[in-house]
Amino acid sequence: MNPAALGGGLDRRPQRLAALREALGRADLDGLLVSSLPNVRYLTGFTGSNALLLVTPLELVLFTDFRYAAQVEDEVGGHAVVQIEPTSLWTGLWARLPAATGVERIGFESAHLLHRDFSRLLEQGARWQWRPVVDCVEQLRECKDEGEVACIERAVAIAETALVRTLEQLRPGMTELAVAGLLEHQLRDAGSEGFPFETIVASGPRSALPHARASERVLGLGDFVLIDFGAVYAGYCADITRTVVLGPASERQREIHDIVREANERASGAIRAEMQGMAADALAREYIDARGYGEAFGHSLGHGIGLEVHEGPRLSRSAEAPLAAGMVVTVEPGIYLPGWGGVRIEDDVLITADGARVLTRLDRQLTELS
Ligand code: ZN
Ligand code: ZN
Repeated sequence: MNPAALGGGLDRRPQRLAALREALGRADLDGLLVSSLPNVRYLTGFTGSNALLLVTPLELVLFTDFRYAAQVEDEVGGHAVVQIEPTSLWTGLWARLPAATGVERIGFESAHLLHRDFSRLLEQGARWQWRPVVDCVEQLRECKDEGEVACIERAVAIAETALVRTLEQLRPGMTELAVAGLLEHQLRDAGSEGFPFETIVASGPRSALPHARASERVLGLGDFVLIDFGAVYAGYCADITRTVVLGPASERQREIHDIVREANERASGAIRAEMQGMAADALAREYIDARGYGEAFGHSLGHGIGLEVHEGPRLSRSAEAPLAAGMVVTVEPGIYLPGWGGVRIEDDVLITADGARVLTRLDRQLTELS
């Protein structure tokens, strides 16, 4: 079974389902059609790539195909009714749904349904009332239980091991792509199931591009090397950034790195439950602003991580929702100076009942690689 469904040895799926049913009740819905795979995984433990999940007050029915017959039994067990569909998952849904008595108003995940499939709801599903819902399961996923936090911590540890091993091998003359390849090899070697997003390795002036992909640029002495990458353990993601210098750092590199580090530490040290996402963002932004680099910090402070590398909550200038204990967020301030270079330092932080715990253990001081 999916180890993340086990929090402190307990299977949390029944609680997740109960919380979802409560939310559906509040939204005046009789059911929900779940088509987002991370949401299916969260509710059932199923990790396959083809699934539909029907949630009603009395039933939980998972539709998948023949390729997953053995896997679904292993992962889901008796937790949901499983239907293996030989042709289309939708055929199974239309055969099953009429038996669900009293189910009239059904939500669908408007951010996770292709228009082609939405048309099916209007055609074959015309006898039910379909209501778009946004972030219904995602909101439940924002607060992690102990099992989920343990998986994220493991992913963070894997990412850290891989980065340390990669930095030992970084030399002038290597390309950014070679560095990314080395890091990805080390991630696999340390136990990562995959890469939650394309590894960013941005060197020299390219480090000023917040989402640069690794390129053929050759690393030179004195370059900043910004590395933003992640690891995955039991489906749960880590997301970390460090910016190092190849050789001795210049005064300016030190100054910029110091400001970003201080902004990171102020934010991860003071972020709290009940605080709005925008207030958390301000913890770092006000400091960077006061140092004269406000314009150079053009993105938000952070985002939630979990089964997806970008999920709720948001820590941005416009995020009004309050944070809560159990959320795991990134804190990733940056300063980007076009043509010169940039620094980002990103840590993963657990919001606790009485503060916050930084899960990333890597040093935040500027590393000068010799
Ligand atoms: Zn990142
Ligand atoms: Zn991030």
